[in-house]
Amino acid sequence: MNKIGSKKALEMVLSRLKGFKEAKVRDEQYITPADIASEVLWKAYFNSDIEDKVIADLGSGTGILGIGCLVLGARKVIFVEKDSAAMEICRQNLEILKSEGYDAGRSMFIEGDVKDFCERADCVFTNPPFGTKKKHADKEFLLKAFEISNMTYSFHKSSTNEYIIDISRKNGFEIRERFCFKFLLKNTMKHHTKGKKYIDVSCFVFEKNN
Ligand code: SAH
Repeated sequence: MNKIGSKKALEMVLSRLKGFKEAKVRDEQYITPADIASEVLWKAYFNSDIEDKVIADLGSGTGILGIGCLVLGARKVIFVEKDSAAMEICRQNLEILKSEGYDAGRSMFIEGDVKDFCERADCVFTNPPFGTKKKHADKEFLLKAFEISNMTYSFHKSSTNEYIIDISRKNGFEIRERFCFKFLLKNTMKHHTKGKKYIDVSCFVFEKNN
């Protein structure tokens, strides 16, 4: 049985996952870079937020966050994604890892809008659309995460931090940690014509106030 023994090993595994075939601009489809995903998941693992937990991956895309949780010992991961093509790639990614002998807990694939999802989870991981195409798309994801779980790891554009912090406060959540990253938006979308583009992104760890 293959086991993940280090952050680097996790990154190696995640960097081999297939991404979107044709990223849809409207749905702001981009993969969380493997080094960033492994950084956050490794922290979450040591925060005891993954092992033996039920995890919801909201807007799971091709699965990097949820699959990372599975190979780190999550009991069950619920992948929620409205794009069937992305979901199919996510399934394939998981199957490949399983065929290589990586141990994975149960997985559940829910194809649909996150707003219609209402199962409880011990912890939510989400890299939502940042709301540049559909205003407040990330707010929708965050409110859903707060509704179904007391613990959420969520990525947001750093320029909207005040707004995000305000939403969490109003919903009874506090920020346990925040990680700052630069996302390299690869030239996967047609309108990025000038090659490489970086944006500042924060990953917040939200925990419900008692
Ligand atoms: N979590 C993946 C993908 C991030 S891109 C990763 O970290 O790599 C955001 C994903 O959210 C896309 O796959 C997009 O199709 C999906 N999405 C956007 N709006 C959605 C909605 N309302 N309901 C469900 N999925 C949605």
